[in-house]
Amino acid sequence: MENNFLRDQLLAADANGRVQLLFDYLTRHGDENYEEDVTQMQHGLQAAYLAKDAGQDPEYITAALFHDIGHILADDPDEKNNPTLKDDNHEDIAASFFRDIFPDKVIEPIRLHVTAKRYLCTVNEAYYQGLSEPSQKSFHLQGGNMSAEELAAFEANPFHQAAVQLRIWDDTAKDVHAEVPTLNDYWEIVSDSLLDEPAIGILGE
Ligand code: FE
Repeated sequence: MENNFLRDQLLAADANGRVQLLFDYLTRHGDENYEEDVTQMQHGLQAAYLAKDAGQDPEYITAALFHDIGHILADDPDEKNNPTLKDDNHEDIAASFFRDIFPDKVIEPIRLHVTAKRYLCTVNEAYYQGLSEPSQKSFHLQGGNMSAEELAAFEANPFHQAAVQLRIWDDTAKDVHAEVPTLNDYWEIVSDSLLDEPAIGILGE
């Protein structure tokens, strides 16, 4: 899978090290373009701020902050086999990348945030009409309207509402002029969202 090296570093690090590695990675790639004139960093910070402002749990704020890290992972020229596809499966890439690092409460909304757009478009025509043009385009690339089975499967996931909420922040977090808190302001929130690191040395005894 992509970014094995960074993932191995994360898995070996303690909580502070994990936050540092993730923030360094986001900072290194943060000025890459998201869409229109918003950078990846601005987009993540705005989404996180919307979650924080709504009084959400740390895990959901963390999910908002990192929801598009899969785009960066998929495009990272420093990594081998980076699949720069039109639909890059960035939600699945992020979900695999974060396994054993964050709990489902962080991972599942991220994994489902693309499906959540398909869900919202399917149940609400006005939502589709309100999307930006690039977002409408990627909706069709990502499969278009859901079938009845897909709708039922989506609604059965305990985190589907969190994913829909993340999707709405995602759609809003595209303001080129927004002034929001910096990445370091989320240190504790991200740290509080981590799974406990494995107790190395104790397991084998
Ligand atoms: Fe996004």
